[in-house]
Amino acid sequence: MTLRFASLRGRSQLVVGDGTHSVDLEKASGGRLPADPISAFARWSEVRDFAATVTDPGVPFALADLDAPSPRPPQMFGIGLNYRSHAEESKMDIPTSPLTFTKFPSSAAGPAARIPVVGGMTDWEVELVVVIAAGGRDIAESAAWDRVAGVCIGQDISDRALQFATKPPQFNLGKSRRNFSPFGPWIVDAAGLADRDALRIAMTLDGEPMQSACTDDLIFSVPAIVSYLSGIVELLPGDVIFTGTPGGVGVGMKPPRFLAPGNTIVSTLVGHLSMSNVCE
Ligand code: ZN
Repeated sequence: MTLRFASLRGRSQLVVGDGTHSVDLEKASGGRLPADPISAFARWSEVRDFAATVTDPGVPFALADLDAPSPRPPQMFGIGLNYRSHAEESKMDIPTSPLTFTKFPSSAAGPAARIPVVGGMTDWEVELVVVIAAGGRDIAESAAWDRVAGVCIGQDISDRALQFATKPPQFNLGKSRRNFSPFGPWIVDAAGLADRDALRIAMTLDGEPMQSACTDDLIFSVPAIVSYLSGIVELLPGDVIFTGTPGGVGVGMKPPRFLAPGNTIVSTLVGHLSMSNVCE
């Protein structure tokens, strides 16, 4: 079975069965593998090998008790304008190299996190999220998937007023408020994903479809992003990359539409997992 990895109250978990049960990695391995998720990402191939041997049915967990799969990433990157449909609705040029910004790690949040609506221009952005395993520098595109632990779904929540408060606009702060980076509910091992270069992502707002895309439409693919970033900064175990959002965000609508308290956002990595976040 493909390895699915979660963090439950700070402890590494293997998600088993129908996705309602998990096995504690450190306990099940007799202390050989780490409870700390970041340490587990650093030893990802060992985690994968061990997971393949697990037959324990696990114990039930509550989604509300899950942290982000990488609960406090050393570094968290966002890629802007990485789908043609979103670049066009934003009336921006198609980037010729990955437009990269920081989502500060303190904005990372679990899959059931409540999204604070701040001001009148809080917007949604469903994205494929990548968690780095061993990391390193100068990673070739052909080797990039080997440095990825796995993928999940995420929301790059954006305070558009803050994003565009300055000229030129800056993305970092407007995308880093409390709980503005929920992702999860767990990651699916990249090595076990036959469709890892063509994953469908989608989201609904109060049941209404808002965004849908396939990652084979990314302007810069996951391997291209990993290779590009690692040529500049050292990628570290547990680092997180939000790979960009497709068309259909609120600020691009006529008239623009933004999140309101009580809204429910359901974000899906089609065929694999989904998460639900309520705004407050
Ligand atoms: Zn984004």
